[in-house]
Amino acid sequence: MKYRTGQVGELIAVQDQRNGVEILGCVYTSVGMVRGNNEDNVQIWALDDAMLGLVADGMGGAAGGEEASRLAVETIQSAFVEATQDAEALHALDEEALSRRLRDVFSRANQAVLDRAADNHELQGMGTTATMVLLRGYDAVFAHIGDSRAYVVDGRTNQIHQITSDHSFVEALVASGHLTQEQAEVHPLKNVLYRALGQKDEAEDDVDIYLRHLKSGDRLVMCSDGLSRHLKDQDIARLTVAATSPNQLAKELVDLANLRGGEDNVSVVVIFVKDSPS
Ligand code: CA
Repeated sequence: MKYRTGQVGELIAVQDQRNGVEILGCVYTSVGMVRGNNEDNVQIWALDDAMLGLVADGMGGAAGGEEASRLAVETIQSAFVEATQDAEALHALDEEALSRRLRDVFSRANQAVLDRAADNHELQGMGTTATMVLLRGYDAVFAHIGDSRAYVVDGRTNQIHQITSDHSFVEALVASGHLTQEQAEVHPLKNVLYRALGQKDEAEDDVDIYLRHLKSGDRLVMCSDGLSRHLKDQDIARLTVAATSPNQLAKELVDLANLRGGEDNVSVVVIFVKDSPS
């Protein structure tokens, strides 16, 4: 597979001529204002005329958190990006086959984290979130586990929609009506997850898959909880609508989280889609 990776802050672009779509993306990450190390890992890949973005937020002590999120990126690169023969093979996969592939790749990442932890006492208990999107033209497939998030901002209405659900105990209590959203935001256990990679033997059934068809002008933001803890959905929507490029937006989102305290590592993947300028 021919692929390129985007550096932090670098604009990366693909032209999908078969669908007449231009896809522009950028990743950005910061250690924040409080923590001493960055346990987040973000990556964006241009896979010929498709684009793949990933946010992974590690946990389990300084060394463990960094290692778990790095293993998620490394596994997705080797088991998906490099294992895909070419663009034709990628476009030929129907949604069901693609969903199965992504579950399998997440399951391999889960195993990679477990294996590394079993080999190294200091890394025991480490885990990571993983929120990923693959864009083929306007068709987006998301795979998700943990409490990193994916949002889509509609290019016509400027409305923001959260695609993913947080796999945290507090969000489960909100969903079942036991807590309000306001109570959840200040709850002492708000960071405790009930699903993540590296926490149990089989992860495949714990991965949520979402399929969305996007339109020209739609914008996608994925982030670690270091962003969502400081920026409400409406803050993210406001900056996203006003931005002129993904690299500008990615940096602005991270800067605002840091301005508001930067209590955690903060990472984003930003992707814009629009009709090709041909
Ligand atoms: Ca975090």
